[in-house]
Amino acid sequence: MTEKNLPQTPQNWHAFTVDEVYKELQSAPDGLPVNEATSRKAVYGPNELMGEKKESALKLLLGQFMSLLMVILIIAAAISFQTGDVIEAISIIVIVILAGVLGFIQEFQAGKAIDALKKMASPHAHVIRNGEELDINAADLVPGDVFILKTGDKIPADGRLIDASNLRIEESSLTGESVVSNKTNQVITEANVQLGDRKNLVFMGTSVSYGRGRAIAVSTGMHTEFGKIATMLQNTENRKTPLQDNLDQLGKKIGIFAIALAALMSLFGVWRGEDLAKMFTWGVALAVAVIPEALPAVVTISLALGVRRMVKRKALVRKLPAVETLGATNVICSDKTGTLTQDAMTIREIFVDGETIAVSGGGYTPEGKFTHNGEPVNPAEQQSMMELLRSGSLCGDTILKRMGDGEWVIMGDPTEGAIVVAAKKAGMELEVLREEYPRIDEIPFSSETKRMTTVHMVRSRTEVYSKGAVEVLLNSSEFICDKGVTRPMTNEDIENVMSASLKMSEKALRTLAIAKRNYDPRKDTIASIETGMTFLGIVGMFDPPREEVKAAIQTCFDAGIKPIMITGDHKATAVAVAKELGIMKKGNALSGAELELMSDEEFEEAILKTVVFARISPGHKLKIVEALMDNGNIVAMTGDGVNDAPSLKKADIGIAMGITGTDVSKEASDMILTDDNFASIVNAIEEGRSIFENIRKYLVFLLSGNMGTVFALIFTMLADMPIPLNAVQILFINFIMDGLIAIALGVEPPEPGIMSRKPRTVKEGILNRDTLVYIGFVGGLIAFITCGVYVWGIFKKFPIDEAKTMFFYALIFARLFNGLNCRSLEQSIFKMKFMANKALILSALVTLLLSFAVIAVPDLQLAFSVKTLTTTAWAGLISASLLVMVIVEFWKMLIRTNTNQ
Ligand code: ATP
Repeated sequence: MTEKNLPQTPQNWHAFTVDEVYKELQSAPDGLPVNEATSRKAVYGPNELMGEKKESALKLLLGQFMSLLMVILIIAAAISFQTGDVIEAISIIVIVILAGVLGFIQEFQAGKAIDALKKMASPHAHVIRNGEELDINAADLVPGDVFILKTGDKIPADGRLIDASNLRIEESSLTGESVVSNKTNQVITEANVQLGDRKNLVFMGTSVSYGRGRAIAVSTGMHTEFGKIATMLQNTENRKTPLQDNLDQLGKKIGIFAIALAALMSLFGVWRGEDLAKMFTWGVALAVAVIPEALPAVVTISLALGVRRMVKRKALVRKLPAVETLGATNVICSDKTGTLTQDAMTIREIFVDGETIAVSGGGYTPEGKFTHNGEPVNPAEQQSMMELLRSGSLCGDTILKRMGDGEWVIMGDPTEGAIVVAAKKAGMELEVLREEYPRIDEIPFSSETKRMTTVHMVRSRTEVYSKGAVEVLLNSSEFICDKGVTRPMTNEDIENVMSASLKMSEKALRTLAIAKRNYDPRKDTIASIETGMTFLGIVGMFDPPREEVKAAIQTCFDAGIKPIMITGDHKATAVAVAKELGIMKKGNALSGAELELMSDEEFEEAILKTVVFARISPGHKLKIVEALMDNGNIVAMTGDGVNDAPSLKKADIGIAMGITGTDVSKEASDMILTDDNFASIVNAIEEGRSIFENIRKYLVFLLSGNMGTVFALIFTMLADMPIPLNAVQILFINFIMDGLIAIALGVEPPEPGIMSRKPRTVKEGILNRDTLVYIGFVGGLIAFITCGVYVWGIFKKFPIDEAKTMFFYALIFARLFNGLNCRSLEQSIFKMKFMANKALILSALVTLLLSFAVIAVPDLQLAFSVKTLTTTAWAGLISASLLVMVIVEFWKMLIRTNTNQ
């Protein structure tokens, strides 16, 4: 086939009949063959919108040398060269190049990590190829592909509808109008039809707000309507997180301080009689040393690597700022079904004819017995139960499948799957039923209406089946099925049903009612079919709690985080599950109806004590999240449906479900759980806290080390001693040592006790009072040690150049030990696993190796102006530097005893 003959630009597809579209695009109702789709992709390219142009690696590398600092350094090197200090000039240039390359590697890695994350969050599409339903990457969709649409889906390409059932599309992203558009598959013959009026077309980038349908892709990628305006809509979102912004500010402030300080000290040096040009280079080196230029890269790397660790722990962060907020989260509002529980429903009890029939068996394996009061019953003889199971399984879209390994799985909704399995246990085959009772219309399930209704042909008649919440179906029923006979429903019937439902709920069973009615085409309309129904009975299904959630809930309590359950389920069921999981040790349960009766003030007060919200619809969720946030909480909230999008957007951290969530909810979220599991939220919070801590550790390491250097230099100058460090040495410590250790600290694994602390308050900056005190203290200590070594060297009558070398190495060792200390700002490092941060060990070894190379290689000795040291000198300076470890250990001990009191 010659794909090149296919149309590649959009045309008047709305005026084509479905068959004409098939013909034009050489496709069929069964979709494209898989190999045909592959070859079409080669012709049309990926179904993607062109993103912003990416910076090339070369540009990124050159960019490293364009910063003001680098330019000043290069000027300084030129001045050194001019004044005859060729070795110093070359050394500075070599260090500048090394620093540039290191910076490039850091930024390149960070960029790659972020790209990888973006790919993971890429959208999917449901297509039919070779008659089989497949879940593919939206980028792989090609013209001619048949794709399926259901509530909450993001539309992957422009398509002509093949069929549409109550299909409503939210097209505001394209048309700017927020009204929902009703779609059909009918041909439109009028000329000049506006985009918004092409009711038989769906457009990329819009989303299904209701209903179902199938469409054939007519244009993809930049050929779509969305593609045409994509360049206008280019994402201009600020990719920096508030933390990054704050740190940029901090960096700037330190920069100004550094330049002022360096200028002052250089002038002081000149006043003391030092050479002007030499002092200029020295001053520049000092200023560069104090400015934490690696800060942005280290922060990005810590964030990106942390986010990668989160992916391994099943949490995919979509927006980087979420990482910081996660660390401060103190309330998690979680859905029950699927997140706290396994969403593997099994019907345990069926209430029909005023009696309860028990069903045995577990999971989706359709094997089990029916008993009544412990006595086996033959399902075929239970007319009402058979009627209920038949209607219930027809009123759904879920199918039961046996896999190659013999395992039974369901494709679709677990609640529906449970009914299909029970029906099969009773001897009914869904495929046979569906053929015998074809569906002709439907009203899909929604969390608001809490029900679903379908209309079927039953030979020459039409019947309506409905399943949904017990109280909802009781409301729409006028009759009840009693031992196969339909009679008007009495108040006593209602009471019996309600009490049976409550009993099931108290056993943590999820209840669902089923009802039916006849359909008279002369009188009935789709709007009236959900009234005057015949109540068939209720089923009680068990949804086992997720094993790992109990421990995760306990971790929440230890970490000062309040878990709250929000569910569409019955209050009694919710409370039973909440108690079992440990969520409801104390606190109240509130239902949606009770919530509606409350005034705003009452609600704001009640929310403080409520841990279970039951029978909640998505609208209530928004109210809950707002009230919690008004109370000053940092709220993480889960959601999966289309209507959860507003509350996901509103919450500090909106969390969507990767498996069961709709595209719309995913798009509104900050984070996606790839396993839908509550425990993964808690893991993500742990990582979030750890990332923040690591950035803090790096800052403390860097600032205390820099303070140490500056204090020491000021002291030696004031004491009228020769300046112990030259420009090259300063740059070596700043670029090589700091760079390596900083990255290593950025990847420190979470500290063991991190989830037994209270959440950080958002107002608390990265440098709080405690860390500032720590920085001052350690900076002073490093200065004290290095100056001590220097004075000792002079006092012991070492040649002055050797004393300077001793100062240089004392500073390297003290800062290195400080780096090891910074693995934890509270815990003893002797209590921490030595090998847990291999990167740090490696960085420390490389730093040591390079530092020794400086003194061992004669040429480097010359370049760095260092002298070979005696064993006594080495012993003295190493033991003195070790004091950084010993004294800081005592300091940490003091802090620990203080905080424990
Ligand atoms: P969560 O705990 O995640 O809120 P939920 O399933 O209880 O989960 P919804 O999905 O909003 O919440 O369902 C609300 C109610 O709607 C359920 O309690 C049930 O009575 C009814 N229901 C759920 N699924 C279906 C379905 N597929 N068809 C008809 N009714 C359903």
